[in-house]
Amino acid sequence: MDKSCKRIIIGIDDTDSREGMCTTYLGALLIDELSDFCNPVGDPLLIRLNPTIPYKTRGNASVAMCFNCNEPEKLIGHVVSRISSLARMECENTNPGVVFIMEEDFGKAKPLLSEFFLHAVRDVISIEEAKSLAENLGLTFRAFKNGRGLIGALAACGAMLDKEWEHTYEFLTYRKTEACGTKRFVDSDSLFEADLRTYPGTWDSVDRFNELVVCVPRSPDPVLYGIRGNTRFAVEAAVAMVRSEEIERSCIYRTNQGTDMHLMHTQGVDDVLDMHSYMLEGTVATASHTIRGGHSIFILEDDSGKTIDCAAFEPTKNFREIIRKLIPGDRVIVYGSVMESTLNIEKIQIISLAQLVENRNPLCPSCGKRMKSAGTGQGYRCRKCATESLETQSLQVKRDLEAGFYEVPPCARRHLAKPLIRFRDSDASLFPGR
Ligand code: ATP
Repeated sequence: MDKSCKRIIIGIDDTDSREGMCTTYLGALLIDELSDFCNPVGDPLLIRLNPTIPYKTRGNASVAMCFNCNEPEKLIGHVVSRISSLARMECENTNPGVVFIMEEDFGKAKPLLSEFFLHAVRDVISIEEAKSLAENLGLTFRAFKNGRGLIGALAACGAMLDKEWEHTYEFLTYRKTEACGTKRFVDSDSLFEADLRTYPGTWDSVDRFNELVVCVPRSPDPVLYGIRGNTRFAVEAAVAMVRSEEIERSCIYRTNQGTDMHLMHTQGVDDVLDMHSYMLEGTVATASHTIRGGHSIFILEDDSGKTIDCAAFEPTKNFREIIRKLIPGDRVIVYGSVMESTLNIEKIQIISLAQLVENRNPLCPSCGKRMKSAGTGQGYRCRKCATESLETQSLQVKRDLEAGFYEVPPCARRHLAKPLIRFRDSDASLFPGR
């Protein structure tokens, strides 16, 4: 390698608005443009951060990429100018951030930034915290407007420096500029076929139970569709089967999607904070009730007797049927994010089922048939045999539910949530991938 050639990591975030653009598109565009005078190194990264952050446009994503480059100043100038011209600056909520890390700083930046990466996936970070970290590390960065995008940009750089995290892939395809905002054409049959042939190597392209295509967005951004999978090979194989409108470009990102990286163990409800995501074990205290809008909510009690509402919201569709079958005494672990003191369930492990006991009219000791009620508070009577009883009969009823894991369907899956199909028998932990 030429001595003047430097390795440079670039992290970018917060360039889009609900009306258009997408940071992953800008990443793909920059990889193509920078490749004219630099050499890309390794896979670009698509990092999903804390899914509860209110400033997010859609999926709280940031991107990072790495290049070998003889002309670092030219690279920096090009990236900053493309962000300035393409980011949706007019949107109040768009506050781009970009960070450049030169090879000589990798060593000193790695411990702090890899910690920051996990912090950004699990916690809530202030803009000041991000700025002072970038300054203390002496990094080259640019914070546009209020600079909130620095948080995601630094986190993505941390992910690039720290290779030791569980990862998956997403093959993203982008529309031609003139097509953006019009109805997308991606042939559904080809997506179902690609899924059939590559699942479980790829997942969440379609939702078979609800008969929905999941991998084609509806918003006016440049993404045409994205195929998620365990390996580069799997996503490439699926994309080769998809029929669609013409694409402008594509990019295969390495990502923390589908890894449960956002989830933290917690001992009990006392430790639970809003805007954080947990695995919480407890006992069902009340069966679920369904509120307006079709959301099902039950109360979970931890081992110290503290309680929290756990919700399966309407978009989780058929998953609510499982939640509605829970009864007091069932022992479960719930997985999900806490917002407004309610845990939004992404998946649930039913560890043990309580006995379901039903009270029935007693049997007549003479003829063996069920007695009839003799009127309120007057017990039971068999008219034929004239026998009487004051006691109901308690019967253990078979539960219409089994212990095990249950998850929301693909159409309701969050980017970071790990689909059960990705758990292996050898996954002793069944817990987040680090
Ligand atoms: P885009 O495609 O532009 O990245 P998005 O849905 O990913 O869209 P953003 O527009 O990036 O959302 O908005 C999310 C904002 O929240 C970014 O500025 C990002 O830096 C910031 N952010 C991400 N994670 C955290 C966190 N853990 N704490 C505080 N802010 C965060």
